[in-house]
Amino acid sequence: MTAQLTNDVSGMTFDMLINGQLVSGSRTLDVIDPATAQVFASCACASEAQLEQAIAAAKAAFPGWAATPIEQRKAIMLQMADAVDAEADTLARLLTCEQGKPLAEALGEVGGVSYFLRHYTQYDLPVEVIEDSESRHIAIHRAPLGVVAAIVPWNFPLVTAISKICSAMITGNTMVLKPAATTPVATLHLGRIVSAIIPAGVLNIVADQNDLGGILSSHPDISKIAFTGSTATGSKVMASASATLKRMTLELGGNDSGIVLDDCDPAEVSAKLFASAFGNNGQICIALKRLYVHETQYEAVCANLAELANNAVVGSGLNADTQLGPVQNRMQYDKLKALIEQTRTQGTIIAGGDCPDLPGYFINPTIVRDIADDAALVTDEQFGPVLPVMSYSNLDEVIARANNTCFGLGNSVWSADSARAAAVAMQLDSGSVWINKHGDIGPDTPFSGAKMSGVGVEMAEHGLMEFTQMKVINLGKNIAV
Ligand code: NAD
Repeated sequence: MTAQLTNDVSGMTFDMLINGQLVSGSRTLDVIDPATAQVFASCACASEAQLEQAIAAAKAAFPGWAATPIEQRKAIMLQMADAVDAEADTLARLLTCEQGKPLAEALGEVGGVSYFLRHYTQYDLPVEVIEDSESRHIAIHRAPLGVVAAIVPWNFPLVTAISKICSAMITGNTMVLKPAATTPVATLHLGRIVSAIIPAGVLNIVADQNDLGGILSSHPDISKIAFTGSTATGSKVMASASATLKRMTLELGGNDSGIVLDDCDPAEVSAKLFASAFGNNGQICIALKRLYVHETQYEAVCANLAELANNAVVGSGLNADTQLGPVQNRMQYDKLKALIEQTRTQGTIIAGGDCPDLPGYFINPTIVRDIADDAALVTDEQFGPVLPVMSYSNLDEVIARANNTCFGLGNSVWSADSARAAAVAMQLDSGSVWINKHGDIGPDTPFSGAKMSGVGVEMAEHGLMEFTQMKVINLGKNIAV
């Protein structure tokens, strides 16, 4: 029989990684297990002085790392991937304890960390010759930028961090990484795992109490901010980065719609829609957050979604049968409960709408139908297990409704006719549009937000370019000097 996992971390210490050393913090940070609402770990937390040390270490390491041949940098990344795989079970348990997601999903996220590390080693930064004529030879080189600050949210702490780490390392940048204040533990453990592999100063990891991000985004020794988080904070980052004209990629909030056309099989599509909306308990930037269903399918899809919600197993992510864990933190939990209360008078709750009798931040998966487009649950990013389902009759009208938002991260179209779906997809204003699926992203696919969902591109070669400065070397031929 497999032993029941617990959130006991006694015997483990969660130090920061600064200049190749594992260091305790000038402060400590208590970390809550959202499945119990109790502190389960205490970790190192940086003072401003320690943050300065981390930035200085990354700055000092930059020239050496930038000059290290790319093949050597790749070899280090492959060693990191092996080391992460060897500690996958521990990392996944820590992730579940601090983030709440079911262990199988946590193992998937940890698997993503080593997958990203290996995947990025296939990229090179070849010199691009754009002209080689009698009079000129023009070549585009890609130079690293310097010290990158990676600022990360609490929904996918590890995979969000590694996407930025890989992009920085392969392009020859050094980094200071700051996890979210409610999910630092697995990231600090990752730092411990790779500390003996990475040259000192190339990757520094500091934890904070949600108070050091502003220093990073205005610091003169930081060349680029790779930020993932809410649109409100992204806007602050942009403002504080402006004085030093930092490069930045901002991966921000979303309010993704799904549009179900009139030719879908309701039973088939409903299971996929449910998974798209409730994965990671709805706490995904590209979760399906508003669903529009053609009036001919509306009753059946609503009924199927309600059944799926009512049957979902909600509980601690450490229990093997759990499908949906807790909401990650108290602030988000309170926000969602208030949103559900507000929604009671604006729509009809057909599943959930309440909290199970468990000690942590749990909310039963909630389906709301017959809700107006101007209700907060439809206009705002809920970021949790609550899905509004609206009916439509006309395709042009529903495209306009889906586009009527300041967000533009993703959308999806669901249809038995992929050409018809593609025609709708082209009219949706977002960085990604999926057909018959939602939220399919990975290191081989560029990812960017339209409108207030982001600035710049992450992942794949397009994303890598954002970690480089284009350097054009223009040679005059046949010129006497
Ligand atoms: P948040 O914006 O509150 O925090 C994100 C990070 O920013 C944290 O590390 C936080 O400490 C830091 N921070 C806070 N104030 C700062 C400041 N003034 N300057 C610099 N950094 C600061 O976001 P959250 O609540 O942790 O995460 C949820 C949000 O993230 C949602 O809106 C979600 O859609 C978004 N998100 C987007 C993506 C994407 O790729 N587009 C992915 C995941 C999450």
